[in-house]
Amino acid sequence: MVRFPFLAVRSPRSSVLLAKAQCVELGKQVPLLYALLSLNTIAVSYTLRHSAPFWMTVICPGLLVCVSMIRLVTWLSSKPATDVRAARRMLRRVTALACLITFAFMIWALRLHTYAVGEERAHVSMFLAVTVIGCIFCLMHLPSAALAVTGLVVIPYLVFSIYQGDAIYLAIALNLTFVTLVLIWVLNTSFRGFEERIRARERAERLGRENMRLAHTDKLTDLPNRRFFFAELARRLERAKRDHAPVAVGVLDLDRFKPINDTYGHIVGDHLLEAVARRLRTIAESENSVVIGRLGGDEFGFVATLEPEAALAVGRRLCGALSAPFEIEDLVLSLGISCGLALSTDGEVASADLFKRADYALYQSKRHSRGQVCLYSDDHEREIRSEEALERALSTADLAAETELQFQPIVEFDTGRVQFVEALARWNSPTLGQVRPDLFIATAERMGLIHDLTLVLFRKAVAALLQMPADIRLSFNLSAQDVTNPPTVLHLVSIVRQSGIDPRRIVLELTETAVMRDFQQADESIALLRSLGMGIALDDFGTGYSSLSYLHRLPIDKVKIDRSFVRALRDMSGHNLLRSMLALCRSMKLECVIEGVETVEQLATLQSLGANAFQGYLFARPMPLPELLRWMNRDAAAGVLPARPDGRAV
Ligand code: C2E
Ligand code: CA
Ligand code: CA
Repeated sequence: MVRFPFLAVRSPRSSVLLAKAQCVELGKQVPLLYALLSLNTIAVSYTLRHSAPFWMTVICPGLLVCVSMIRLVTWLSSKPATDVRAARRMLRRVTALACLITFAFMIWALRLHTYAVGEERAHVSMFLAVTVIGCIFCLMHLPSAALAVTGLVVIPYLVFSIYQGDAIYLAIALNLTFVTLVLIWVLNTSFRGFEERIRARERAERLGRENMRLAHTDKLTDLPNRRFFFAELARRLERAKRDHAPVAVGVLDLDRFKPINDTYGHIVGDHLLEAVARRLRTIAESENSVVIGRLGGDEFGFVATLEPEAALAVGRRLCGALSAPFEIEDLVLSLGISCGLALSTDGEVASADLFKRADYALYQSKRHSRGQVCLYSDDHEREIRSEEALERALSTADLAAETELQFQPIVEFDTGRVQFVEALARWNSPTLGQVRPDLFIATAERMGLIHDLTLVLFRKAVAALLQMPADIRLSFNLSAQDVTNPPTVLHLVSIVRQSGIDPRRIVLELTETAVMRDFQQADESIALLRSLGMGIALDDFGTGYSSLSYLHRLPIDKVKIDRSFVRALRDMSGHNLLRSMLALCRSMKLECVIEGVETVEQLATLQSLGANAFQGYLFARPMPLPELLRWMNRDAAAGVLPARPDGRAV
């Protein structure tokens, strides 16, 4: 089917690029058209200077040439249209002006024809023919204008020639009509080719943009992905360097996502992530300069060009948005979120470094203030530096030679006897001196050294246990990574087997976070260790972010209630909390140890609440093995329970 895109400036499948491309092409050709028109006008006026009156050979053509020159200069000085609406407006203006100017020239030319004699008439006819052909070519990128110009020249000329009744000029007019019809046909074909090329370019550009979008979008949540996030961060920092503007980067990490994913399956997990993304996006879109992306797994990030206070407020809003529970497939799921935030005031920091700071602040938020936004500070900077020193020392440490264990008794109130001793690691670094165990354990975890460290300590603990009375049992701490690492678990089992010790004398302490990291794997490891007879205790109970719905599914033997709850005993709510935790342990038939008992008052209160097993400075501090053995011989034989301040037994 032949399609003539002439009469409308905008075809039904009008493309954005087409109008702009037409303007660009016309910009090259229309000035030539006016030059050609002016030249031809001057030439024909000159030929008829003796036959036609002055106003027909000087005044009228002078005016027409002036108008043409003005248009020529206007075209040469005009800038290409930047947006599609301006381009379309321009095309409409060109068509209208082409009609108007052609009409004026035509009236003049036909009137001039009436004055012409002999060969002069041939010149006028040639003027009309050459000019209309020139116009068709110059307007080939705007067929509507080309067609209008042709119609306005050819039809009146044909009518005029018929009216004049001269056979030769009638033949010329008919000839011109046929030639222009063929030219219009050729023009149509060529314009369709042009249109097709532009559309193909447009499709390629659209495809390129779509590919780019897909490469920068997270498939599940439709949020910008990690790649886009880092590119955006780098862009903003670059701009900030020029403008001395602040840039904030936030890292958000969901709490409790992993156990939900493990428990309810990946489909629920995916729906939950989509719902989280929707909430985060709503907040980000309500802010001016905030871009939020999914960095992977359950980690999200945002970049904002904001002052510190405003960036903190955005972080808080994002955290707050996730505080309400999610309803996914008939389940009501609640998540927590932690946020680390780092700021650059002038862009003078590499994007990777700024992100690392935000990540460190996130780590601090998870450790100390879950659910809140933690802003990277100078203190964090100092901590990082000391952590770097720690990493250096740990990477060159001779773990077997530099570490040792101390033991802290866990006593039973009823009998006054030592039930267990908890092995607590000590590291005496040749360069740093004594390092706190929670610090070097966390560093060893980060550096991937924890497997070796745990095994070194466990061998020492088992060796120490062999020297203790047979009724004393050992409580040994596993790190979060140990319980989810099958090789570590298998090594622990083989150490126990090789030692010949009764596995029932060993209890392994796990934290809630360790279990939550990979519920499935933790469950399997626990099952294996218990099948051998080892006990499992849940350490620091109540400080993690777990939910009882997961915990009750774990085959554990006891819980150790964190010492922060003992400190909170002073007020009524702390009192009630401990009471209900103890009741919970009783109802779940779990043994319960209270950690961090420091005063007789605490002991008395705890005892009145029904607690029976305690660990704390009130009884004994952690001590090396020889001291522990002496302590057990002397103090424990005399009964370890301290006296009340009034001198009576507790
Ligand atoms: P944890 O497992 O909760 O160990 C109890 C911590 O509380 C010990 O600190 C102990 O000295 C301290 N403590 C005991 N009674 C009291 C008290 O009455 N008041 C106060 N304020 N503190 C008391 P320590 O030895 O500094 O260990 C800190 C943490 O380091 C441990 O917390 C445990 O999470 C980790 N850790 C220690 N040894 C090991 C180990 O061999 N392996 C692993 N993975 N972690 C260990
Ligand atoms: Ca412990
Ligand atoms: Ca503990």
